[in-house]
Amino acid sequence: MPTYRCNARCQICHIWKYPSQKNDEITLEDIDALPEGFCRINLGGGEPTLRDDIVEIVDILSTKTDHVEISTNGFLTSRLAAVIKRHPEVRVRVSLDGLPKKNDEIRGMKNGFDHGMRTILKLRELGAKDLGFAITISHRNSDDLVDLYHLCAQMGLEFSQSVVHDAWQFRVPHNVIENREEVVSEIKGFIRELLCSKRRDHFLRVKDWYRAYLNRGFINFVRGDGRLLPCGAGTDIVFVDPYGEIYPCNALPESMGNIKERSFRECWESAQAQRVRRMVSECTKNCWMVGTSRPAIKRNLRRPTAWVLKNKIRLLLGKDIIWDVENGDGIGDKEMIEEKQEAPSGMISLQEEKCATSSPAEPVSSEVTSPTD
Ligand code: SF4
Repeated sequence: MPTYRCNARCQICHIWKYPSQKNDEITLEDIDALPEGFCRINLGGGEPTLRDDIVEIVDILSTKTDHVEISTNGFLTSRLAAVIKRHPEVRVRVSLDGLPKKNDEIRGMKNGFDHGMRTILKLRELGAKDLGFAITISHRNSDDLVDLYHLCAQMGLEFSQSVVHDAWQFRVPHNVIENREEVVSEIKGFIRELLCSKRRDHFLRVKDWYRAYLNRGFINFVRGDGRLLPCGAGTDIVFVDPYGEIYPCNALPESMGNIKERSFRECWESAQAQRVRRMVSECTKNCWMVGTSRPAIKRNLRRPTAWVLKNKIRLLLGKDIIWDVENGDGIGDKEMIEEKQEAPSGMISLQEEKCATSSPAEPVSSEVTSPTD
């Protein structure tokens, strides 16, 4: 998170009310001091393109990871174009929270949808290799979910999803989903679409199947049930705020250290970080944010794969997906409980695991790539 400054006025995220001051934000030197070997680094915000030095930030981060991703509202097309001219491989996810009217209303941006779409078209013209839209699902927009997916599929774009979380970072009191069963019903319809994906690109079609599993996890979260897979916040991912503070995620406000005071590695290996990881292992919030669900899916790939195969076959036979088995996914729920008790809580080596990112929130994610991106 290079900045908390934002040019949107979203209903579901009030970071724009609490902007960081330019002079307090992490500098290019702070970023340059990060170690190499990250699996992925997501630049979110705030709106990351409000940093005048966004191109230089990406220049540096591209030496730390093979996968730099920018989560943006797409308003500042020229800034993103400048990044893509230098780094066409950078992933860009433009946040859209619905079709034009709904998106602009939720995000508080006049012509926000138009800007997002123009940005995608411009970046594609410039040769960007990995473009997509991203939605944060809530009761305000779940009925646009399938339409947005079809739009992305027809344009050959990625489509990432996250769901509204009541996290401190967003600064919205009681940021929860209303009309839960209506939202669940919309997500179920979307999951059926994903499992029957007709995308021409084989890779994107397979990703749709695993995104179906990601969305299956949203149902548990919306209903207040447990996570399908253990949370690895603080181990799989970390969240670095604009002031250099490292958190395990953006929902547990426990610092693991500050990169302005100590090196990232010292923070990562500190007793303070270990204490925070123990808190994560006992955390009962049961979030299903992209930042933690994606690595959990990758680490436990057999389980989502079994779920995908089982339910695809059921749909082919004209049956519905198995939705509710003791609030799990219907695949080895007993094992799931055991896995939960073994949730990752230990310190890992960056070089060995090559896995940590700067932002779990997707738009978050959102958090979001690999099978579920
Ligand atoms: S469940 Fe995981 S992501 Fe959610 S607050 Fe707890 S540690 Fe953070």
